[in-house]
Amino acid sequence: MAMAVPNRPVSIRRPWRFWARQLAWAGVDIVFPPHCAGCGRPGARLCSACQSTIQDLARPLCALCGYPLLRGSGPACRVCLGGRRSIAPLAGLRSAAFFQGPLQQALHRFKYKHDVILADTLGERLARSATLADVPAGLVVPVPLSAERLAERGYNQAALLARAFAELRGLPFTTRGVRRVRHTPPQVRLNAEQRHANMAGAFAVEGSPPAGRTILLVDDVCTTGATLAACAAALLAGGAQAVWGLTLARAPYSGALWARDRARAAPSSAPA
Ligand SMILES: [Zn+2]
Ligand SMILES: [Zn+2]
Repeated sequence: MAMAVPNRPVSIRRPWRFWARQLAWAGVDIVFPPHCAGCGRPGARLCSACQSTIQDLARPLCALCGYPLLRGSGPACRVCLGGRRSIAPLAGLRSAAFFQGPLQQALHRFKYKHDVILADTLGERLARSATLADVPAGLVVPVPLSAERLAERGYNQAALLARAFAELRGLPFTTRGVRRVRHTPPQVRLNAEQRHANMAGAFAVEGSPPAGRTILLVDDVCTTGATLAACAAALLAGGAQAVWGLTLARAPYSGALWARDRARAAPSSAPA
């Protein structure tokens, strides 16, 4: 159970590929000196002071959705235990830290300002997070972008993050196996129910699906888990044994989004 795991960063090993990229990035930094995404100070993309403010989600965590629990409230949160929705079909969902402060600013720069060099710093933060200590080993797969979004952005931020995570944890990594078959509208204004409806059927397996394997599905941010759940459904339909969702950041209001939906849909009903 998640709560029994000691709150220690996971040990990682930087392979030569990771070091080689660091060397290349150092060369880029000489030509274009970086500024911190969090505080704007020159010298680093995400300075050590800002990195130190990115705290792991506080234990105890829900054994299913990985959201922080009130102390002594049991193994899973009320949304997972009694809600009309759960993180299903994900076997578990874990995030390193809340989507706020310097992490939010760094992810914004990484995703929308084409600062792909941040991928290794952020991937290392995910790989070291103690919140992932109870996640089993598996094949690391990033949540794919639609062809339209990929053409527009030029890279899949989840894939860069997942690659760094897999390298540092010594896990196998692939971008094949699942693809986005439907371009979905942005979800910012949607509630949890609408997000799940928006994402349903958005993914399909392709090529040789990872049959019989545990998949660690990586994305940058998770709000309600709708995207990860839809992608996991496709992977499971393709024969995956189990799919865990891993994200660097978790929207701090994700529990509230579910609770609000539940209250509106069934104000007096017993948990399903
Ligand atoms: Zn800073
Ligand atoms: Zn939960």
